[in-house]
Amino acid sequence: MTTPSMTTPSHPAAPGGTCTLVGAGPGDPELLTLKAVRAIRQATVLLVDDLVGDGIVALAAPGARIVHVGKRGGCKSTPQAFIETLMVTAVNEGERVVRLKGGDPFIFGRGGEEVEHLRAAGIAVDVVNGITAGLAAVSGLGVPLTHRAHAHGVVFVTGHARHGEPGTDWAAVAGMAVRARLTLVIYMGVSGAAQIQAGLLDGGLPDGTPAAVVQNASLPAQRHAVATLGTLHDTIVREGLASPSVIVVGDVLQGVATAAKGGTAQQSRAA
Ligand code: SAH
Repeated sequence: MTTPSMTTPSHPAAPGGTCTLVGAGPGDPELLTLKAVRAIRQATVLLVDDLVGDGIVALAAPGARIVHVGKRGGCKSTPQAFIETLMVTAVNEGERVVRLKGGDPFIFGRGGEEVEHLRAAGIAVDVVNGITAGLAAVSGLGVPLTHRAHAHGVVFVTGHARHGEPGTDWAAVAGMAVRARLTLVIYMGVSGAAQIQAGLLDGGLPDGTPAAVVQNASLPAQRHAVATLGTLHDTIVREGLASPSVIVVGDVLQGVATAAKGGTAQQSRAA
């Protein structure tokens, strides 16, 4: 079975050389797609991001070359240009390359940049979706992202700005959330939670809007805290919640907010 290629190579790689961007999901190996498992097993070279757990990497074939390119554990992250060059070289040498990324490759995963680079080098890329962390986070709380009574849509938004570039316009996001009744799912937001909270309040989102933070969604170490927008930053600090965490803001959380009055962090068994 083959997956449709996103691009047509202008000059073919060495025979057998392929490149697949694979979403590894939020952490629990059982949340991988069947297609992801097959690609991982068939890979001869795997380039692995830091949020991809050992249980997932363990699915690789014996003898496959595994290259960790993440920045956790005190190491500097591998420069993006180096990762891209490595992928192109390996494909052209006839390797079956899998680029394994946390969550979904196309949600804040630089998957787009990598596809552009490979495409420019004349290499076709297959993409296998993964369950993005924001989906796993809300499922971990047992709440829906949309609900006919509470939210008409969802915004996935980053709390991280590239150096020297303006970050997300939180007041604009708040205005949209209020007017269109949207749930906000904020990635990479815990370290900037104070500014995010202030910006959303500035933009008119009421301070009593339910909010939650879910750390390590889908993993045995998953924990979460429930707060309101007005107590979000204090709750994160008090409970020591840290990356990787997703912040969720919106009325869909009303049920969990009532159940967890006081906003204490809880170990929340992963599904
Ligand atoms: N492509 C990934 C996101 C990469 S950005 C995806 O689709 O999920 C990295 C951010 O994702 C982290 O800072 C955090 O906000 C979020 N994240 C990734 N894994 C997570 C997890 N298991 N639990 C909570 N948040 C997670």
